[in-house]
Amino acid sequence: MSSNNVQGPDSESDATLKLQDRLPEPLKPLLPIALNLRWCWDEDSQDLFRQISPLEWKASDRNPMALLSHASPARLLELAASPDYLESVAKVQSSLEQYLSSPAWFQSQTNSLRSVAYFSPEFGVCEALPQYSGGLGVLAGDHLKAASDLGFPLVAIGLLYGYGFFRQSLDANGWQQESSLKFDAATTPVRLVEGAEVEIDLAGDPVVARIWRADVGRVRLYLLDTDFDRNSPEGRAITDHLYGGDKEHRVRQEIVLGVGGMRALQQLGESCEIFHMNEGHAGFLALERIRQFIAGGLSFDEARQAVKATSGFTTHTSVSAGIDLFPRDLMEKYFSGWVKECGIELSDLLALGNDPSTGADAPFNMAMMCLRLAGRSVGVSKLHGHVSREIFHSLWPDRQQEDVPIGSVTNGVHARTWASPSFERIFERELGPNWDDASQDRWDQLRNVPDKELWEAKGIARDSLVKWANGHSILSAPNLDPAALTIGFGRRFAGYKRPTLLLSQRDRLQALLSDPRRPVQILLAGKAHPADDAGKRMIQEVVRFWREPKTNGRLAYISNYDIGVAQRLYQGADVWLNNPLRPLEACGTSGEKAVYNGALNLSIPDGWWDEMYDGENGWAIPSTEETENPEYRNQREADALFDLLENEVIPLFYDRNADGIPTAWMAKVKHSICSLAPQVSGYRMLRDYLKEMYEPLSQSAAATLTTAG
Ligand SMILES: *Cc1c(COP(=O)(O)O)cnc(C)c1O
Repeated sequence: MSSNNVQGPDSESDATLKLQDRLPEPLKPLLPIALNLRWCWDEDSQDLFRQISPLEWKASDRNPMALLSHASPARLLELAASPDYLESVAKVQSSLEQYLSSPAWFQSQTNSLRSVAYFSPEFGVCEALPQYSGGLGVLAGDHLKAASDLGFPLVAIGLLYGYGFFRQSLDANGWQQESSLKFDAATTPVRLVEGAEVEIDLAGDPVVARIWRADVGRVRLYLLDTDFDRNSPEGRAITDHLYGGDKEHRVRQEIVLGVGGMRALQQLGESCEIFHMNEGHAGFLALERIRQFIAGGLSFDEARQAVKATSGFTTHTSVSAGIDLFPRDLMEKYFSGWVKECGIELSDLLALGNDPSTGADAPFNMAMMCLRLAGRSVGVSKLHGHVSREIFHSLWPDRQQEDVPIGSVTNGVHARTWASPSFERIFERELGPNWDDASQDRWDQLRNVPDKELWEAKGIARDSLVKWANGHSILSAPNLDPAALTIGFGRRFAGYKRPTLLLSQRDRLQALLSDPRRPVQILLAGKAHPADDAGKRMIQEVVRFWREPKTNGRLAYISNYDIGVAQRLYQGADVWLNNPLRPLEACGTSGEKAVYNGALNLSIPDGWWDEMYDGENGWAIPSTEETENPEYRNQREADALFDLLENEVIPLFYDRNADGIPTAWMAKVKHSICSLAPQVSGYRMLRDYLKEMYEPLSQSAAATLTTAG
């Protein structure tokens, strides 16, 4: 793969050039450090930026490009004359260079995999690049970070949205307000790839996409956007909002992602062997590849086989509303040219996206198309694999459900991104500098760390969360206590996640929140989709409840849940609560991030928790999905949740020894970390992908492509 199409920092586009000019000579190495997103999981790099101005670092949402463009010249000169600071710069610079050039885990393996292209509609790498809207994007970000650390030969493709993840605030009635900042190249850690553009035909209108590049450690992430002067207003609008607009808008975005993304890789000289579609939104890449194979002389059937031999698909949803369905006339409008070029009939195309359980005139189903065109398909937890085999059984009517060829790779998370500095220090000391890739045996050594140390590390993170939350809140005065048992809940306010389940039994909840002997506090966060009024009503319900005097200020809603807010919550919480309607949470990853922060999961056994809960490493709230009446089901599960809190969780936390340490609690925390840390790791996920998807595809690719000649 080539990586030389991007200008180096010294022949840079306007924005970076200006920054380059602002920096005094000795500080110029800060620019390449800021431009490689490895800083977002490296404490030393972050310290360099924080030292420039702790206040501005915070105010910029931890965005080094914004910080460097606003830092006062006097401060920069002062640092340029500080031998200590320059020494730290040199240290980070050489550690980055070493990180980028040393062989990693993948290089120590023998396998046939040459390269993977990872296509995703969103990527959540850090707050400074808000090109995500939730779990799918953050997972994609962690996939890239883990691939980088392990040295996987992987490049990534996505879209650069003019308006990324919206910012959430609440009005005086607790009603969600959305606003978005427009993408600004000068303060975003991406660079334009000069001279690289791709043209895409959209129902007869040519549209041009330019290509931006972000570096996520060793991984190149290319983002396409159409909002520049080569395009008509309609063309420019395609990449305006993440998941914005109607079905037609979505088709146009997904064509730019799949078709444009494929052409971008070729134009950049990135020769990729395996193509990974992260969710159905990325599926049009397979159609572009079919077209190219046919142009190269294969028949439609051969082209499909060649694509299948080299494509992998991850499905992320358990609810049919999560699947892209496009009306057949839209498909005809946008793909009649494609059909002609391929020399096939429109019906051949529509058959690719047909859902056999819904009849021949049903809308085009992107998940069905991906399943047909991918040689390896997986769900995101074992339970979700099972659910997916059920949902998509109609595609393999001759098989038993358990033989439907959809496997699973359970999601994992990037430990260094999510662990608090106080825990990271202990892990590093006990397990060594590569603590995040320690084996089970080495994690078990953590059981020897004195309880007091881990307890104090948790106390530091909880204290910092409470200080921040007490100051951050605008609507009502929280009365949070740095020593109280802190329950965290952060996720999208969507019906199946039941963010207001606790509020369904107000007397019991108020009793917990007002107990002076064993204080409990609850922090909730999460945005509602802009079009989801039911979700917004749930936020309002939480906020109204919070204002009631009986809650004692011990329940607070934190606005604008994003990667930064999420980190604080996982790090400071003692208990991470998750109460979805099983089995609708395909995996869930926030609880996995809480593990690296010594928080205990209290969760319905759904997604990852269904396979990893061992009876001791947290608590499982019994699911009563056999209950037919939904209200009765909610009531039974809320009862079970309160029973656990009242009888087990709270007493255990407040059972203290003479030094004030909850020793039985700490034993559970240690067991949770030791038993779960290696399993919830993004490295485990990448290695599973290698085994379940990348490596088998690489072998079938070699076989098919040689016979197809
Ligand atoms: C991890 C994460 C998610 C996904 O969490 P779930 O448990 O899957 O709901 C969503 N948003 C942010 C900001 C995250 O960091």
